[in-house]
Formats: sequence, structure tokens, C-alpha cells
Amino acid sequence: MPTTQTRPGISDQDISDQDKARLQASISGAVLDPTHPDYASACQVWNGSIDRHPALIARCKTADDVVAAVSFAREHDLLVSVRGGGHGVAGYAVCDDGLVIDLSAMREVEVNADARRVRVGPGARWADVDQATQPHGLATPGGEVSVTGVAGLTLGGGMGYLRRKHGLSCDNLIAAEVVTADGRQVRASAQEHPDSRQRVHSSTMHPLPLLEGGRESCAIRYVFFRQSPYLNFPGYGEDQSRLWPASHGENFARLQAVKERYDPSNLFRMNQNIPPRQAAA
Ligand SMILES: Cc1cc2nc3c(=O)[nH]c(=O)nc-3n(C[C@H](O)[C@H](O)[C@H](O)COP(=O)(O)OP(=O)(O)OC[C@H]3O[C@@H](n4cnc5c(N)ncnc54)[C@H](O)[C@@H]3O)c2cc1C
Repeated sequence: MPTTQTRPGISDQDISDQDKARLQASISGAVLDPTHPDYASACQVWNGSIDRHPALIARCKTADDVVAAVSFAREHDLLVSVRGGGHGVAGYAVCDDGLVIDLSAMREVEVNADARRVRVGPGARWADVDQATQPHGLATPGGEVSVTGVAGLTLGGGMGYLRRKHGLSCDNLIAAEVVTADGRQVRASAQEHPDSRQRVHSSTMHPLPLLEGGRESCAIRYVFFRQSPYLNFPGYGEDQSRLWPASHGENFARLQAVKERYDPSNLFRMNQNIPPRQAAA
């Protein structure tokens, strides 16, 4: 839920020590104000240019903590931001002067292999999901890298390696457990509260048969890209002068043969792509 910075700011000075203590007593995780030694690191997100200073950060561990934090914000009329994996480029996970509901510690993942479902905590990253689903030979469409948060990515749609065959991450979302702004916990699915769009505190997704550990193989190969250009993901800092000689001329046929051998249906591809001979024909 994006925050705006248009409301008058409330600094931590405006919240009494008694109220801060009351919030701390009502949640099992830590409550950080600007005097806390972990406050500065807790304000940092993936985008290093984001420099925001909330009045308080509530590091939630349970759904009840989220309810308590939402209720506290409502009672004190605080601006709220929600932090999942912290990879939102706009930095909406952190707000100025308000309350950050930090879910990043809630990384639990439960797999029900028989039902082919996975229940994911709101702070989980794709690496957590992959680690839990892969032993069962299952995967679900997520992002291309393993460090992004499941919640934020899925709320935004979510594009990963499996999208051509199995759709977006949000297409595979079955249900979400939600804390509403008035502090209720509800389950949102096609049947129950389908219009709920509040703070998600866990979600159930539908994993698919595993095709290939795409995110892991990408991460492993990235180490080697510094020497050689990585053709399928030029977003990793590849410039055209390196890409062109690496992917044309005699290299084209060689790369096409590699693709044919390991990905004959051309499933794993970005915009830039060397198709296998079969798919190109
Ligand atoms: C290096 C990198 C690689 C990426 N690769 C991909 C990719 O391959 N595919 C793709 O689709 N996207 C990709 N993205 C974009 C990514 O999906 C978004 O940035 C996404 O918002 C990150 O989610 P997060 O939970 O990590 O981030 P956060 O910053 O924590 O959250 C993002 C937004 O979602 C909200 N939010 C998070 N959790 C909840 C919750 N439980 N309830 C309510 N609101 C919540 C936050 O308030 C914020 O507004 C990438 C981003 C980066 C930085």
C-alpha cells in the first residue's frame, strides 16, 4: 500500500514514552525509535537513495503484532508504511514521521506438497520459498532473483522465469490473510472478502512442478558474468559493445545449440533472446 508524504509529520517526540511502552508491551517483536541502535539500519531499503525517518518501527513477529501496530497507528493518527522484502524501488516500505510496520522477520514458509500449496509469511523472500518447495519438486512463478520479497512482488503482479507458461505470481495467489485498517484479521480469496486490499500478513500460493531452479542458476552464473557477458539479462550492467560480438557471428550458432540442448522449448528467456534452432524455425 503506497504511502504519501503529504500529511503533517508526527515525530517520535510527539508520541509519549508511555505510549511507546504500551506499543512495545502489545507486540512480541521490538519497537524502535530513533534512539535505538538498530534504528538506522532498519530504515535502509534496497534503493540506497531512499532516506526516510519514521517516528517508530514496529518489528512484527505475528499477525497479532500486526493488528496491535495497525490499531496503535489508527489511535494516534499515524501515517503507516508496510515493509516486506524492502526491494520496492520507490521506497514505499519506509515513511517519514509515521509508523513502519516491518514484516521482514516473518519469513516462515509451509509447504503442503499433497495439495501443492505453499503458505508464505509476509517477510519471506523468493529464496525462502524456493528452499522449501524444491525438495518436493515444486516451484511457483516468482521473480527472477531470489532476494525480492514475495509479498511486494506478488502485490505488484510479479514476473519471473515461469511466466510464459504459468502466468504472473499474482495469478497463482489463492488466498491472503489480511489485517484491515480497523484491525480485523480476514482471509481474502475468490470466495471470502475478495475485495480486501489491506496489509497482507501471509499468503497461500499454488506451486507448480519444478522445471528448473531458474533463480538459483542465475545467481550461481552471475559470479562468472564479470569476465563474460551474460546475454539473457543485459539489465545486469551489460553494454551493447560487449553484447554484440558475444552473441553474433560464430557465437550465435554455438549459443543456439546450447539453448537447444538445455531449453528446447525456449521457456527461460528475457526480451533479449537467442532462440533454439527448433523454436526459431
Ligand atoms: C533487484 C531487483 C530485482 C527485481 N526483479 C523483479 C522480477 O524479476 N520480477 C518482478 O516482478 N519484480 C522484480 N522486482 C520488483 C519487485 O517486485 C518490487 O520492487 C516489489 O515491490 C518488491 O517487493 P518487496 O516486498 O521486496 O518490497 P517492499 O519495498 O518491502 O514492498 C513493496 C511495496 O509493497 C508493499 N508491501 C509489502 N509487503 C506488504 C504486505 N504484506 N501488505 C501490504 N503491503 C505490502 C510495501 O508497503 C511497498 O509499497 C525487482 C526489484 C529489485 C530491486
